[in-house]
Amino acid sequence: MNKKIIIVGGGFGGLSAFYSLKKSLSNVDITLIDSRTTSLEKPSLPEVAFIGKPVNKVQIPLKNVVERNGGKYVNGEVKTIDPSQNKIVLENEEMNYDYLVLATGAVKNYNGIDGFKDYGYSICDDDHAQKLYEKMIDFNGGNIVIGAAKTEWADHPAVKKLSAPCEGPVGEAMFMLDYALRQKAIRSKTTITVFSPGEIFFEDVGPKVHKALEPIIKAQNINVLTSKIIKSIYKDHVEFTDGSTLESDLTVVIPEYKGTDVVKNSAIGDEKGFIMTDDTMRHAQYKNIFVVGDINAISMPKLGHIAVMQGQIAASAISKDVSGKGDILPFNPEVFCIMNRGGIEATMILSNYLYGGKTDITLDGPIAHMMKWGFDDYYFYTKGHMPPEFMQNGLEKFLQILKGSISR
Ligand SMILES: Cc1cc2nc3c(=O)[nH]c(=O)nc-3n(C[C@H](O)[C@H](O)[C@H](O)COP(=O)(O)OP(=O)(O)OC[C@H]3O[C@@H](n4cnc5c(N)ncnc54)[C@H](O)[C@@H]3O)c2cc1C
Repeated sequence: MNKKIIIVGGGFGGLSAFYSLKKSLSNVDITLIDSRTTSLEKPSLPEVAFIGKPVNKVQIPLKNVVERNGGKYVNGEVKTIDPSQNKIVLENEEMNYDYLVLATGAVKNYNGIDGFKDYGYSICDDDHAQKLYEKMIDFNGGNIVIGAAKTEWADHPAVKKLSAPCEGPVGEAMFMLDYALRQKAIRSKTTITVFSPGEIFFEDVGPKVHKALEPIIKAQNINVLTSKIIKSIYKDHVEFTDGSTLESDLTVVIPEYKGTDVVKNSAIGDEKGFIMTDDTMRHAQYKNIFVVGDINAISMPKLGHIAVMQGQIAASAISKDVSGKGDILPFNPEVFCIMNRGGIEATMILSNYLYGGKTDITLDGPIAHMMKWGFDDYYFYTKGHMPPEFMQNGLEKFLQILKGSISR
């Protein structure tokens, strides 16, 4: 009988696991479950918020994608998992699995900041990005404050704790805001202040990237404050936990990340609701459960790039279990993100400094913009596929040579 594989979550991690499993195994039944009907391409949300990209251009319909590729799609929320029975429980049904891939992402805790509901804005999901776009239409100058809330993580000695889950979206939002305000000729009437809960802005990369970013941020007249933990948002100011305040007419926040309810309800994760695995993404206790993407405690920072890598690794491990063939892919995490800066400008960061590596580079300008545009469109139009491996390898080599960080 075919093995049953259930994937919970159809974001970057879940789709990557799905496609990789379909490629490597033919004799399995794969079901992908998501409470959403579409997979959300979050790296494109700043474009929804700041240049009005239609939201349906960042949503990939899951039913079509999964069924056209030979899987079964279920639209529903998984409430609990019973790992001792290899069973998941939805609202009205239960399902058994031989292998479970958990790719639920993290919960964005907007309500963790007082006043967010009334005065806060964000770019972390489709609804918030559209709401911000509408606000931007009427915005006519003033003070803008933007930053990430602090996230608390459980202790895992092998994982470095970051103050913010990921500050790339903050960087992208500040640059795109700056550009949008210049286009509207109201930049001189607006201040942009960025705050970070960390001791350094972009604490997930190394000194070479910091040095490269500094003049760009300065040139765009963006103020940066560090070690600031947001507490409350009011109509005309924000307050931090150290008692300081900043005037703000528009406050944009990446909220605290928390584990999903299904993980908490099922007692399979740490006290913050994230799940620790080994480097093959296998659960420490339940060997037929794999965890990929933001919900995995070893994903630090929380990046789609890492989620995709983990989806492929988990698929290779399951594939080896089922078929006895193939190798399990290695986990070599790196921070790879491209911040759109409006117009034809972007800044790309590639760094493995956080994990003890030597790569810590940026690429700035229209080439980086083309890379972002190319990747986002490729992902959207191929319904969640990554560009072919040879292109990615070639790109990485190109970047390393370009910055002289390796010899030819
Ligand atoms: C504004 C923004 C910009 C970003 N830019 C970049 C970037 O440039 N580069 C980069 O690498 N990363 C970027 N990221 C981070 C990246 O988007 C995330 O790391 C990535 O989406 C994580 O993928 P995931 O599959 O773990 O989770 P998600 O993409 O969050 O998907 C999880 C899915 O699981 C579903 N789900 C959750 N719980 C359940 C349940 N109980 N039952 C059923 N379904 C469930 C959800 O509906 C969702 O569809 C950005 C993030 C944001 C917010």
